[in-house]
Amino acid sequence: MSKIVTARCLLCGKSYDVTEDHKDYKKLLEQEKDGPTFVCDLCNYRVRHESEDKNKPQKPM
Ligand SMILES: [Zn+2]
Repeated sequence: MSKIVTARCLLCGKSYDVTEDHKDYKKLLEQEKDGPTFVCDLCNYRVRHESEDKNKPQKPM
């Protein structure tokens, strides 16, 4: 069983279970306050995508 930390996304506000193979896992463990925060893959993708293609309409996932 892999280790999991529950973190809240800063952009969409949802809570996610982040597994230890996630790139932000170590950062999240170091935060250890009330609840670690991060930017989830979905928002990460959206932000990157929007900054690259500002003129294109959003595609449904
Ligand atoms: Zn999110």
